Formats: sequence, structure tokens, C-alpha cells
Amino acid sequence: MNVLHLSAECYPVAKAGGLGDVVGALPKYQVGLGINAMVAMPYYDKKFVKEHPFDTVFRGTSKLGYRSFDFEILKETTDVLGFELYLVRIPELLDRPEIYSYPDEREQFVAFQLAILDWIIKTEKSIDVFHCHDHHTGLIPFLIQYSSNFSTLAKIPSVFTIHNGQYQGWMGWDKFHYLPGVDPSKGGLLEWNNCINPLAAAVKCCWKYTTVSPSYLQELKINSNGLEFLFELEGEKGIGILNGIDTEVWDPAKDPMLSFNYTKTTVKSGKEKNKAEICHAYGLNPDKPLFTFIGRLVLEKGAEKLAELIKEMMLRNADEFSFLLLGSGEKDIERDLKEIQTYLKNYNCYIGYDEQLSHQIYSGADFILMPSRVEPCGLNQLYALRYGTIPIVRTTGGLKDSVIDVQDEGGYGIRFENLELMEMIVAMQRAIALYQNQKKINQLRKQMMELDFSWNKSAQQYVELYKSLTLIP
Ligand code: ADP
Repeated sequence: MNVLHLSAECYPVAKAGGLGDVVGALPKYQVGLGINAMVAMPYYDKKFVKEHPFDTVFRGTSKLGYRSFDFEILKETTDVLGFELYLVRIPELLDRPEIYSYPDEREQFVAFQLAILDWIIKTEKSIDVFHCHDHHTGLIPFLIQYSSNFSTLAKIPSVFTIHNGQYQGWMGWDKFHYLPGVDPSKGGLLEWNNCINPLAAAVKCCWKYTTVSPSYLQELKINSNGLEFLFELEGEKGIGILNGIDTEVWDPAKDPMLSFNYTKTTVKSGKEKNKAEICHAYGLNPDKPLFTFIGRLVLEKGAEKLAELIKEMMLRNADEFSFLLLGSGEKDIERDLKEIQTYLKNYNCYIGYDEQLSHQIYSGADFILMPSRVEPCGLNQLYALRYGTIPIVRTTGGLKDSVIDVQDEGGYGIRFENLELMEMIVAMQRAIALYQNQKKINQLRKQMMELDFSWNKSAQQYVELYKSLTLIP
């Protein structure tokens, strides 16, 4: 079975968050299950493409409204990722260093989708399922069914996975002419709230949509940035499949980004050494429990609460903990987190994106804090579990599906319900108290490292879904 994943991100080619991790891992595990899973993504001028060999397998010309553009499809020649990787390069549109945030982002992703479909039609490439990820590829299920240019693909099933329903790729109707061969009477399938909404269009037109955790599937009906009614209407088509993690990339026993590797039998000493190293580098006291936050500094992650929380905790529980934060995002949140650094002891932050530092922190920290408002799945808590780091999470989305409170049977984490300062303080104080019982901490670390959150089970669930749509055994 030939499954083409379409995505804006794929680790290690280009990653901004969880989407990249998933698209870098899921296809590899599917190949292991006998599926020919492939990935097509935009070309970015990044380290990976400079350091790996590519062949141009197709050259074409397409049109974005009145503007013609040339494009190339590049294929990575060594299959280093464990699956076929294709990049769409469009001079002056898809050849830039960053993944997002250009003013013509809409044009970039529409052109990407048009080029992909042109390539598949012209080369008669055999595809059994289109698996589209997030709004950047959300027009594909619509285009293959309702554009006369792509009608030969109309019967191919499409699966759409929602990694983040907050971002929907909205664009004005002035861009409708970008979509070739579309009868305007079908415009309603593209629309939500008076604009073209690629995420909504995908949910309406795909054969099945999935969310990256079962709880998030339900939560989208209550909170999805304006699409609540749509998710209620289309609820029958949705399936929640919890993300897995790539246990080859995220393996404390072999992780080349760590100075000290460890297993569940050596977790105590291994973590101690990594913690000492990182605390030394960031001027923190390694004898205290080390808390961390890793992630995008945005409201979705509850990040605007962090500066106040850390300040308040330093007043109440001074000298009882250290805190190291890694993240980037909204400027005012970054500013607040840097400002408290000027007068707080045992707190430090690295504002920026650093893959290696994140691995070092997962391994060295004792607790990871995730006060998310919305968390479709959350990968940080899964990486933390694998590295023996206790997650402290708000009970939402994938956090709810993957973290059991230590007070409950079989539990290992700390949960709190509301994004209120006092609840977060109590959660951190519970962690500090727990840390005093080192025997329990070590038992929890071992227990967490034994949990299986690998892709094995979830990759199989996707394969079952493809089979049910294609009737290919
Ligand atoms: P989201 O995709 O919403 O940002 P996820 O929890 O699904 O959140 O995935 C976040 C991924 O991005 C994890 O792999 C995490 O380690 C990584 N990450 C986030 N911020 C940073 C950062 N500043 N530096 C390094 N890695 C980061």
C-alpha cells in the first residue's frame, strides 16, 4: 500500500514542534509494518538538505492564479530516514530558511499542494492514501474531489490528522482563484465564517480525520477556535489516536546528545550526572529538585503564567528547588521570563530553540511542568517519561490520556485541573515533597521508563484505518 504523507514539517529535515516529530517517525514505523509510507514536504534551505544527496525526479510548471511557477520534486537518494522523502522546491517561494512566518505563507502552502498534485498526475505515481497533516495540506482532500484538474485522483481516500486545531490557515475569498478547475458552487466546502478555511475544508472533505489523542477529539467540539459546531457535525468521521514517540531518537541509553547515557537500572546515577552538568552550565544548585519547562512560549501552553509562578514559588519555597526553562515564542512572555532572571537565584532560562539542550534537560531534570491550556497530544511528557522525568501536567488533551497522578493506582505523575496560580503552586509543592522521598522517586523513574509510548501501537492503528478505507488487505 502506497501512503503519501503531506506535511509542512518532518524531523530532522525541518521541525518547529510536535508535527515535525510525528511526521519524522510515524512513516518509519509504518514501513516496518509493510506499508510503503512516503513523505512529501516543502523545500527549506536548512542544514539537512545541504548535507544529504537529492535527485531531481520531476520538473514541472504550475499556476497560482495568474502567476506561473516552475517547481522541482527532489528525492533524498539514500532513504536515510527509513522512508522515501520528497521535497517540493519552488524558486523564490519554497527555497527559504524558515518553515513559517513569511507574509506570503498562504501562497507558499497552496503552491506546495498544487505542485504535489501536478507531479502525481503527470507521473501517474501510484498513491493509495493521501495522509494530510494540519491546515498547510488541508486543501488536498477538497482539490482531488472537486477540481477538474485533478479528477483522476478523486477516488483516492484522504486521511487528515489534526495536530493543532487552533491554526486553520484562513484566507480571504480573493485567493479563491488560486484553486484551479473549481466550480464556485463547491465554495461552501471551503468556507467557514466567511473565509476560506483549509482546516475546515479538510474536515469536511476528507474520508476520515484523526486527532493526536482521544481526549482532544472530544475537546475540539467544545474549544476549537470557532470550529466547534463543525466538529460536532462531522464527529462521526473522527478518530483519536494517541501519538507515539520515536524510541530510537529518544533513547537515554544511546542518545548521542547526552554526556551520560543511562538505562532504567542506572537512571539514578545517570540523571545525577546529567543534572550536575546542566546545573553547572546554568548556575543552578544541583542538590535541589530541578524543574523545567520546554516549549513554545504561547498562551496555548499556559506560558504567560510561568514568570509569576516561578516568582511566587521562590517566595514561598525559597532554596527548595531550581528551575531551568527552554523556549521561545511571544515577545512579552520571553521578556518577563528574562526579567525575573535578573533577581532570582536558582532560576535560569534559555530563550531560543535548541534541540540538543532539550535532550540534555529531559535527562537532567527531575520534573517537567506542562500547564497547557490546550494540548492536542503533547510530546514533552512522553519524552520526559522515557527519560525518567516526572511530568506535572494540567489535565487536558493528550496530557490527560498519558499521565496518571501518583496518588492513583499505577500513577507516576502530578496532575492539576485548572490554570490557576494556586493550583500550580500546590502541584509544584507536591513535587518538592515527593522529592524528599528518594526511594519513591527512584521507583517512579524506573516505572516511567518501562512504559511503552512507542509508535508501535499507534502506527498499527493508522494502518488499520488505511485498510478500512482502501479495502487493501
Ligand atoms: P507543539 O507541537 O504544540 O509545540 P509538542 O509537545 O507536540 O508541542 O512538541 C514539542 C516538540 O518541540 C518537542 O519535541 C519539544 O522538545 C520541542 N521543542 C519545543 N520548544 C523547543 C525549544 N525551544 N528548543 C528545543 N526543542 C523544543
